[in-house]
Amino acid sequence: MHEKCGVVGISLSDRAAARPLYYSLYALQHRGQESAGIVTHDGFQQHSHVEMGLVGDAFDPDDIESLNGSNGIGHVRYPTSGSVGTSCAQPFSVSFKSGSLGLSHNGNLVNAEEIREELAGLGHAFTSDGDTEVIAHDLARNLLEADLVRAVKRTMSRIHGSYSLTIMHDETVLGVRDPQGNRPLCIGELEDGYVIASESAAIDTLDGELVRDVKPGELVVLHPDGSGYDSYQLIDLDNTANCFFEHVYFARPDSHIDENLVYDVRRELGRKLWEESGIDTDVVLPVPDSGRSFASGYADAAEDVEFAEGLMKNRYVGRTFIMPTQDERERAVRLKLNPIKSTIEGKTVTLIDDSIVRGTTSTQLVKLLRDAGAEEVHMRIGSPPIVAPCYMGIDMATREELIAGDRSVEEIRDHIEADSLAYLSIDAISEVLGKSEADLCLGCVTGEYPYDIEGEATDRDVERPVIDGVEATADD
Ligand code: AMP
Repeated sequence: MHEKCGVVGISLSDRAAARPLYYSLYALQHRGQESAGIVTHDGFQQHSHVEMGLVGDAFDPDDIESLNGSNGIGHVRYPTSGSVGTSCAQPFSVSFKSGSLGLSHNGNLVNAEEIREELAGLGHAFTSDGDTEVIAHDLARNLLEADLVRAVKRTMSRIHGSYSLTIMHDETVLGVRDPQGNRPLCIGELEDGYVIASESAAIDTLDGELVRDVKPGELVVLHPDGSGYDSYQLIDLDNTANCFFEHVYFARPDSHIDENLVYDVRRELGRKLWEESGIDTDVVLPVPDSGRSFASGYADAAEDVEFAEGLMKNRYVGRTFIMPTQDERERAVRLKLNPIKSTIEGKTVTLIDDSIVRGTTSTQLVKLLRDAGAEEVHMRIGSPPIVAPCYMGIDMATREELIAGDRSVEEIRDHIEADSLAYLSIDAISEVLGKSEADLCLGCVTGEYPYDIEGEATDRDVERPVIDGVEATADD
């Protein structure tokens, strides 16, 4: 299961956390539109509201009122094909002998099945097929024997994969980022408390200050009275595996991730794209909205080129990926984008997007631009060809569905019927992010993953923990 989601956790001095949680989920809505949820704790008991749909539809004022307590966590979940339904909506909550737990997870474990089997054998009853529940049960079990920090460390030593978590243990809010820092997570300071969120845009929305990123392998424990936080560096690895695609597509341009402003990164990638494969045309057009910052960087580097809007987006149409069939996906592109003829007719155009996944969007857009009178249509893409699936939490289609899965760039150009096509190099990604390839997750563009995934190649020395029915023996 792939879970590309948004998580948040908030501790305040004496104000209810529900409303700021609700606002921050709005700020993270782009990370997931299938369901939204909040779990709070008032010092005595947990309160939970989890609903299918967009944040604005999932909560009404009464729901927010009923979520008592100044500590809480929230989640927005991305729609994926395999796992639609309320059983996977989050935060996931459980009560157990020594208290209550709530969990919000962004990412995807690659060894959840092994742990699930072991825990099921020990009598744990699972209500969903999600890996988040596996983390919750593992943590609940460890909490019976160890204090909070040790219990989290034990669970971290057993789970393998990508996870940025906000956790609620009774009224204490925690943030955990996997040892390779695959998904983003950051800490922010508010006037009367602290927040942990997937992206800093959520902190901005609350008028807070970004303090810093949560470090890979770090546990952050917020003080329930909003007065501060403690940090525990629980696992240290030599290399990170930051997802480059967060910077390319997924995150908001106004968020800072691992010390880079996403907008600046995209503009810089656009500049590189011009340097590597710039072509002179009458006009440069972005695919709204995902190609916009790339196109502005590209046009900036090109200097004497006209940068214009040639496609208008209907903002009320959701992301094309939500459409279950190819036919519906194709129709959705036409619903979503309409050409502005005057900027296109009789002109040679360069169309810029961040990525090509299945190729549906680019095929449709090249046709749309030609129908609107473009003389030539050149495509430039702000990321390398996506050749392999993502196992780390971004729903990216299967290998067979990926247009670059078994085609050369020239074959793709031919397929989408563009006059020319060029992608950005992996080197450019690494240079702009200021990270070596050994510190990035490039699985979808190289086919080699920084995690030990069954049936796939890995690009580094990583091993999944052996889960063999014996309690973990992490040196506490
Ligand atoms: P496709 O039409 O399948 O080639 O998808 C490419 C378009 O979808 C581009 O405009 C991207 O901005 C966007 N995109 C890329 N990755 C994703 C994703 N994981 N979910 C939704 N949209 C995406």
